[in-house]
Amino acid sequence: MTDINEAKVQLIMELRRQGISDLSVLNATERVPRELFVPDRLRKHAYDNRALPIPLGQSISQPYVVAYMTQALKLNDRHKVLEIGTGSGYQAAILAKLCRRVYTIERHIDLLREAAKRFKLLDLHTIVIRHGDGSEGWIEHAPFDRILVTAAATNLPLNLAEQLGEGGIMLVPVGPEGGAQSIVRVSRAKDRFTTTEMLSVRFVPLVGPPKSEFS
Ligand code: SAH
Repeated sequence: MTDINEAKVQLIMELRRQGISDLSVLNATERVPRELFVPDRLRKHAYDNRALPIPLGQSISQPYVVAYMTQALKLNDRHKVLEIGTGSGYQAAILAKLCRRVYTIERHIDLLREAAKRFKLLDLHTIVIRHGDGSEGWIEHAPFDRILVTAAATNLPLNLAEQLGEGGIMLVPVGPEGGAQSIVRVSRAKDRFTTTEMLSVRFVPLVGPPKSEFS
């Protein structure tokens, strides 16, 4: 077995030990080549269970956190999912294996271009990309069955939860930059939203809409 395959098998076993029990999530983790989403010099660490730096001061999340959030979304192949913060495209690729369509928004055009190349290379044609500020969601394609925010919001973004359909679930890391953040799950039933705090995490910040220079 090659080193990379061996490392991948080890990672899958570690994820199982850490409580990832959904076989479809473990399967998707096995099928998406994380080595293509990290910078070349870090390829040998692609299957380490940790976040890795990607260009522009951003990061590709830890495989455990990706698997945890994906599992918590309880996806099926009819779901339409919004992701905010495409980054490397890794999380979007995992989602694409498990749902009908992924809409993903990234504010850094260079990251988005690289991610788009990877989607093409991997034949992931159900991912729709957009360059821009995701903190407002993607109203033209709402409602979504699931929303996944992969950058930390300072406060719970209720405007995004409004773009959930009936029975929808949103996961969003909430907390200050570099401080104590946790993933919050927002579930929508009719017009009632229920929030539950889940895992402690550390994400790069969700950047809000550009502020006017003079305000
Ligand atoms: N999901 C990514 C990791 C995301 S890192 C992956 O699998 O690799 C968080 C990303 O969110 C960064 O790329 C950052 O540029 C982006 N981001 C932060 N604020 C944003 C905003 N308001 N709109 C769109 N993207 C944003």
